[in-house]
Amino acid sequence: MESARNGKTMKQAAKRFIENPDLTKEGFEELIRCADDPETVNALTEEAVRIRRKYYGDKVYTRGLIEFTNYCKNNCYYCGIRRGNLRACRYRLTGEEILDCCAEGYRLGFRTFVLQGGEDRWFTDERMADIIRAIRKKYPDCAITLSIGERSYESYRLFREAGADRYLLRHETANEEHYGKLHPADMSLAVRKLCLYDLKLLGYQVGAGFMVGSPGQTTGCLAEDLVFLKELKPHMVGIGPFIPHHDTAFAGEKAGSVELTLFLLSVIRILLPEVLLPATTALGTLDPQGREKGLAAGANVVMPNLSPLKNRKQYELYDNKICTGEEAAECIGDLERRVAGVGYRLVSERGDACSPAR
Ligand code: SAH
Repeated sequence: MESARNGKTMKQAAKRFIENPDLTKEGFEELIRCADDPETVNALTEEAVRIRRKYYGDKVYTRGLIEFTNYCKNNCYYCGIRRGNLRACRYRLTGEEILDCCAEGYRLGFRTFVLQGGEDRWFTDERMADIIRAIRKKYPDCAITLSIGERSYESYRLFREAGADRYLLRHETANEEHYGKLHPADMSLAVRKLCLYDLKLLGYQVGAGFMVGSPGQTTGCLAEDLVFLKELKPHMVGIGPFIPHHDTAFAGEKAGSVELTLFLLSVIRILLPEVLLPATTALGTLDPQGREKGLAAGANVVMPNLSPLKNRKQYELYDNKICTGEEAAECIGDLERRVAGVGYRLVSERGDACSPAR
């Protein structure tokens, strides 16, 4: 094992990174250029797993994902539920349906509920706060995570007071120019970043992240993503390969690489040792063993779907999304076996970050 790390051909950049992960943009670029060197990959994977085991042992946390609306006011070019996709069949769950999803999730052992959706104005601050309060009251022992895009500081404050604990808002790309290729002009990286800092200020456990292989992404963009993560120090980082959706402008683009995603998972684990790192559905969609490989690369979270079966297929961010035809219980049973297969164990606890990011 040690031999890999000390191997003669292991690239200098990787060696330096393991010794001191505090790289500059140029350092990260050099590191990412080693992503196809098997010896480098082995050394980084080994180090990532060592760190992951040190902080989290063999535990894999579960987050029950409730995709409660696919209405969206935004028009992100990569996303299947963007406003401009007139073929998307829109739905929104009622408060009661959301609570039913939580009840089923709780029964199955979930202690974190993630409310994710498009930016749907029907869910005003008041309506959202009512739903959050209802979940908080019924499940005082559970974590409530929101993933509903950009809102004002005041809205985020209201949700926090209503009982929300965590917030997922991927920055998508930390490079201005690249951000402009993925989003229309009415969206900006500056606002996205401001939201993330607001959320941190309000005491949320915050998740940032990006797609791997989105159209126009360069090694430099990825290096900037890593620099940004180093600055933000989020509690969670969600990354997954870009996957084209047939009704978007990017329909004909290539999907991101599973291998590069796995490499970056290991890099992020080393960069932010205690971070919560999901093996994402997008990874499992591109490769039938994707989520297992993600766990073996340093991930420690999975996010099975708790959305009602009748709406699963409608929350179509990209093509061929997995787990849209099974009940939550079937999904979790299958996942339990997969996780055990790579030597880890699904646990039923809130799974807060080991210590707040500094
Ligand atoms: N509206 C919320 C939730 C977005 S959906 C928000 O703005 O945060 C969750 C994530 O799915 C997005 O942040 C994006 O990174 C990812 N996603 C969207 N389209 C995708 C695609 N075509 N391929 C891979 N991931 C995609």
